[in-house]
Amino acid sequence: MSTSSLTAPATPLSDDEVRRLREDFPILASTVNGHPLAYLDSGATSQRPFAVLDAEREFATTFNSAVHRGAHTLAAEATELFEDARATVARFIGADDDEIVWTSNATEALNLVAYSLSNASIGRGGAAAEPLRLRAGDEIVTTEMEHHANLIPWQELAARTGATLRVIPLDDDGALRLDTLAEHITDRAKLVAVTHVSNVLGVINPVERVIARAREVGALVMLDACQSAPHLPLDVRALDVDFAVLSGHKMLGPTGVGALYGRRELLEIMPPFLTGGSMITTVTTTEAEYMAPPQRFEAGTQRVSQAIALAAAVDYLTEIGMPRIAAHEAQLGARLLDGLGAIDGVRVLGAGIALPRVGLASFDVAGIHSHDVGQFLDDRGIAVRVGHHCAQPLHRRLGVTSSTRASTYLYTTDAEVDAVIDGVAAAIDFFG
Ligand code: PLP
Repeated sequence: MSTSSLTAPATPLSDDEVRRLREDFPILASTVNGHPLAYLDSGATSQRPFAVLDAEREFATTFNSAVHRGAHTLAAEATELFEDARATVARFIGADDDEIVWTSNATEALNLVAYSLSNASIGRGGAAAEPLRLRAGDEIVTTEMEHHANLIPWQELAARTGATLRVIPLDDDGALRLDTLAEHITDRAKLVAVTHVSNVLGVINPVERVIARAREVGALVMLDACQSAPHLPLDVRALDVDFAVLSGHKMLGPTGVGALYGRRELLEIMPPFLTGGSMITTVTTTEAEYMAPPQRFEAGTQRVSQAIALAAAVDYLTEIGMPRIAAHEAQLGARLLDGLGAIDGVRVLGAGIALPRVGLASFDVAGIHSHDVGQFLDDRGIAVRVGHHCAQPLHRRLGVTSSTRASTYLYTTDAEVDAVIDGVAAAIDFFG
């Protein structure tokens, strides 16, 4: 299934529906600097509906207990809710329950895989992990577009194992140079790590092309789905990836929880990243036997209320419907791009890329630092992100050191997008 068919036409949310669902998000009724809050920073972290806030509170007030331990009733109930939450997240992305590993965030999920592969490389996984070993001469491939979380763990993995990191470059517009796939993903490639949606450009990458090339040479594929899973239907099986990472706080969930999807056959042979309690069967003073996945990768007391609240977020998104959310945000994204692009002195990064997008755009305003743009908008109650958005190589390639990013979600209105556009025009008048 192609990404574009996953985002095929669905009815966007109506203005009335958006108005109604906004009432589920208490923070959206706030005022900031005397103005109604216009929250255009969901790409950094999203807001939470009552369903999510209530799920966390209900757990704390009714079930609070450590999971997979204690013989008492609360522990059993907490364990059941925790495992149900895993199943909900698994269903949301087309995976099986035991293919979801809870992590603190997406960054930890990426590091989990990188460190597990390191451990395989030093023999910690035994003979079973042999196919995962990286050695000098092997290659890890990523792209110039990545968030640092999907770049630095691979730099470090290469340094630890002697493998070489190769980077798929971008063209002058900022698009992945797909014409170089064969050159960069060779039969030396062991792992290809690519982002589904750029957190700076908002473009939905044609990852099927990258995955197909990785498959041709027998490399594993890691998909950074942090900016896609919250906004588009995602099916890891249909896309045929080996790993994918999710960030709970970007998909209406709480901070402190993320998830790693890993294909079962791989998780089964991967050595653990963190070790300690809750991930072992038998322990002597000299060695330990590890549990089967996913518990093998969940050392220590787990983030139970956060996982349960993330499942409530997934239920909320599913109830509205991911295709409809995607359609709503595609409209908002087009409005943002057109409006910003029409302002003299504004350069929208990646504007020339002919790919479908989510509702996110980063832009440079000639002669005005992004921090000043952000401050000016904040004075009007508009929240945006400024800086390099943890993507310095991408900014460097496009010849800027920082940008201002506006990012939407299901609760964003046309009026809020217009407020950003008007605010940027006013900033140019003010500073100009
Ligand atoms: N990958 C992308 C594309 C992101 O946008 C982010 C967060 O901004 C991350 C990874 C890291 O996510 P987390 O905050 O869950 O570690």
